[in-house]
Amino acid sequence: MLHLNPLEPGVMYWAGRDTPEEVQALGVRCAQLGIADGVPLTPAHATGLIISTVFAAYEGEDYADIPTASKTVGFAPLETRAKREARTFEVIDYAAELKVPSFACHIGQIEEDPEAMRDLVRRICDRCAAHGMTFALETGQESAEDLLQFMEAVNRPNLGINFDPANMILYGTGDPIEAYRRLAPRVLSIHAKDAIRPDPKKPAALGTESPLGQGEVNMPSFLEALEDCNYQGQLFIEREGTTKAQWSHDVTQALKLLQSLCESPRPLRLSGE
Ligand code: MG
Repeated sequence: MLHLNPLEPGVMYWAGRDTPEEVQALGVRCAQLGIADGVPLTPAHATGLIISTVFAAYEGEDYADIPTASKTVGFAPLETRAKREARTFEVIDYAAELKVPSFACHIGQIEEDPEAMRDLVRRICDRCAAHGMTFALETGQESAEDLLQFMEAVNRPNLGINFDPANMILYGTGDPIEAYRRLAPRVLSIHAKDAIRPDPKKPAALGTESPLGQGEVNMPSFLEALEDCNYQGQLFIEREGTTKAQWSHDVTQALKLLQSLCESPRPLRLSGE
C-alpha cells in the first residue's frame, strides 16, 4: 500500500458527479469519496485512488439556510431517521469492502433530541468498529465545546472528527482555528475549505463558501495550528455549490495554494516551545 505524507493534499469528490479518473487527473493520490442517497454502491467509484474516508449524504438534505439545515440534515428529521440509518449501514459495509478506514457524515442538529442522537451515533460507531473502521463527525452545526460534550456522552473510542474549518464560519459556530486546537486530539481528517461569515443582519443565513485562500479561515494560520498539534493526516480539498468547470478550476488553484503554503519556510520551532 502506498504511504501518504502528512498534510498531503487530496480531494473530496462525489460518486456520480465526479469520476475517480477526473480526480486523478488533478494530480492527487488520495481522496474522500462522497456517496449520495440512491447512488449504486460499486467499487468503480474508487478506482485508482487511495480513499481515506467514505462520506454519506441523504435525500432531502437542504442547506438553504441555518433553520432549513437544522430541520433536514443528517438524522435530525424523525420521519427519515430509520431510513437514513439503514442506508448508513449499507454505505459503511461498502466502505469496508473497499478497505476504507473511516466513514463520515453530517449527523445533523443534536440538541433537539440528544439521547436518540447519542444512541444512534453509538450504533453507527459499533457498525464501523465491527469492520475496524472509525466514524468521523463532520463539524459545522455546533461549537467545539458542544461537540466534545456530545462525543463524551457517546463514549466510543472509534468516534472522531472530520474537521471542516469553513463550516465553523458558514454556521457561525466559532473561530475555526481555536476550534481546531480544542478538538485536535479527536480529529481524524480535514477538509481544506474556505468561507465568508454570514451577514449579521440576516441571522438565519449561512455564510458563503469561497475558493480556498479567499475566505476568512486564514489558511497559513490554520496550517500552523495543524503543525503545532502534530496533525499527521491529509488535507482534502472540498468545494461545493459550483459548476463542474468551476469545481475543477477551484480545486486546481487550491492544490497550488496548499503546495506553496506547505513548501514556504516557517520559523523553526524548538520542541517544548
Ligand atoms: Mg466539509
